[in-house]
Amino acid sequence: MIVPMSNGFRRVIGLKVDVDTYDGMRKGVPTLLSLLRKHGIRASFFVPMGKDHTGWTAKRVFTRKGFLKKAGRVGVLETYGLKTLMYGLLLPGPEIAKKTASILMRIIAEGHEAGIHGYDHVHWHDSIKAWERGKTEEVLKKASAVYEDIFGKKPRSFAAPGWMVNQHALRFFKNNGFAYTSDTRGFFPFFPEMGGESFDILQIPTTLPTLDEVVGIAGDDATSLSRFFFNSLTDGLNILTVHTELEGHRWVGFLDSLIRISLEQGFTFERLIDIASRCRNQGTVPRSRIIYGYVEGRAGEVSCQEN
Ligand SMILES: [Zn+2]
Repeated sequence: MIVPMSNGFRRVIGLKVDVDTYDGMRKGVPTLLSLLRKHGIRASFFVPMGKDHTGWTAKRVFTRKGFLKKAGRVGVLETYGLKTLMYGLLLPGPEIAKKTASILMRIIAEGHEAGIHGYDHVHWHDSIKAWERGKTEEVLKKASAVYEDIFGKKPRSFAAPGWMVNQHALRFFKNNGFAYTSDTRGFFPFFPEMGGESFDILQIPTTLPTLDEVVGIAGDDATSLSRFFFNSLTDGLNILTVHTELEGHRWVGFLDSLIRISLEQGFTFERLIDIASRCRNQGTVPRSRIIYGYVEGRAGEVSCQEN
């Protein structure tokens, strides 16, 4: 496919940090904040506004072959810890955003962006494809209300849990003042078409693979994997999604090394909200269809920018 002339971006990386769990918020976010401060760069954090129900994903180990394969590579127990794997099963799931509001405020205070990563990550990921308009809007209203309670202002950005989105969510974002959303895997920012409708809400897709998709395949250690990711960068706009449970924990050395090499080679890091403003100012955003598909190394479907 022809990538539109790098959209005026020259060696830019948008660093998107997904928080999936309560522990990822409490422990992973502070680790990543120190790392970003050390390098003097800014990023975009996306946080679930509701409860941590990671334990529900344990069911997938028994029902999805792909999950077991991936789970084996990243080491589910080492990544999440036993307690997190019990949230929603033997332990009640803690409220992620409400119980960590001070960390959320720190994200903003340190110059980063804080957006919404769904309400209940597991529930959204597993069910959004089947949700009708009413259910989708109910969940998004609930998530937006928690965000507004904490920050005293309306949310402007959203990243779909597990890169799963539907047309009702896109309509909600368009009608409720969001500046952009980041719900897909793809190639460059676009205005989406889905379910036969077009939406004037900017979509910024993740363009690179995630660490859990390539660990054990592209490399086994921080050095070889950071080299692999560096070699995967284009000279235009790159969007990299990292997870607090991985890069904010056992794999922090990988991200540290990748940021260092990228800065040395003239790449700059920008928040997704700033990338969105630049796209709008340039006024040449193409339209693409969103379809459900598969990416190598990931179990289950994801929303993709059609090639
Ligand atoms: Zn996530």
